[in-house]
Amino acid sequence: MKFQFLGTAAAEGIPALWCRCDACRRSREMGGRAIRTRSQAIINDELLIDFPADTYKHFLDNRLDLTNVNWCFITHSHSDHLYATDFSCLNPGFSHVQDGYCLAVYGSDKVGEKLAPVMGSLTSKGLASFTEIKPFVPVSVGRYTVTALPAIHDVNAGPLFYMISDGEKTVLYAHDTHYFHDDVWAYFKEQGVHFDMVSLDCTNACLPLTYVGHMGLAENVQVRTRMLEEGYADENTRFVCNHYSHNGISVVYDDFVPVAGKEGFLVSYDGMIMEV
Ligand SMILES: [Zn+2]
Ligand SMILES: [Zn+2]
Ligand SMILES: [Zn+2]
Repeated sequence: MKFQFLGTAAAEGIPALWCRCDACRRSREMGGRAIRTRSQAIINDELLIDFPADTYKHFLDNRLDLTNVNWCFITHSHSDHLYATDFSCLNPGFSHVQDGYCLAVYGSDKVGEKLAPVMGSLTSKGLASFTEIKPFVPVSVGRYTVTALPAIHDVNAGPLFYMISDGEKTVLYAHDTHYFHDDVWAYFKEQGVHFDMVSLDCTNACLPLTYVGHMGLAENVQVRTRMLEEGYADENTRFVCNHYSHNGISVVYDDFVPVAGKEGFLVSYDGMIMEV
């Protein structure tokens, strides 16, 4: 499985638009891996996770072709993960697609509500569809099985995170969420899951968490430890910290790599490809 991180920041990006904080100033100067756009990932160039405004830049920078994407799973309705307006560019005149092309979009009821204004005309033309999904109910698309899990995040955004298998390898993409719900751990146990790659929300990096809805490195370490103890991961599982805010401590790429590395984590960057 080819898993590619396209965007690796929280809502404001790093550097943030107006921001003069130390992390943003240094990231602007350093460029390269220090620059983080809004969250998105893609599997085998055909299964997309999330659709932020930066989708346009991600597909240009990585020479990807959106008409190869058949499925798009949205984690939740926050704008850094779902910029619904750009789906209207799939309408005739804005895009010329191959005959029979239809993008299948999946997400919670809140995602459906946000997509409704653009999805109506696309659905009537057969160019896209939206399917509401529920936690713990696997969906089959092509050779993939995708299972949504309940995230601990803003309930008004219908937050889900995803377990995705291609029949051989399984990845967990867990953003935006707090340390997982007991129901999620119980599901892992019941299903006897095993992950080949785990990407965890690391919004706060080294800043101690004082609120519910995201994680930092300390919580990522707790998740990794429990997964190894309970057998959902092993020494071959690659753990990745991802989804960063400029407010995190040691969040700049070069600063965070050695800190996360000591705890057994890779640090994502925009465009990073994992051969899982
Ligand atoms: Zn986010
Ligand atoms: Zn900043
Ligand atoms: Zn969010």
